[in-house]
Amino acid sequence: MLKKEERMVKELYTAEVICNKCGRSFNPETEDYLHIEKKWGYFSKSDGRYQEIDLCQDCWNEFCSSLIIKP
Ligand SMILES: [Zn+2]
Repeated sequence: MLKKEERMVKELYTAEVICNKCGRSFNPETEDYLHIEKKWGYFSKSDGRYQEIDLCQDCWNEFCSSLIIKP
């Protein structure tokens, strides 16, 4: 027999996102955004470097419009 009890568990969550391009801060629960993580490989110019970038929707759309081949 298993006796169950409740317990409080702490968890990490994203409470705020700051756009890397425009610097605007926003709540990720009310606004969507793009999150990119990249660890550069051995044959790259940034061997072993890890980078994270967050972009708000406006900056993502601006970036997309600058591309020659649109997504
Ligand atoms: Zn932005």
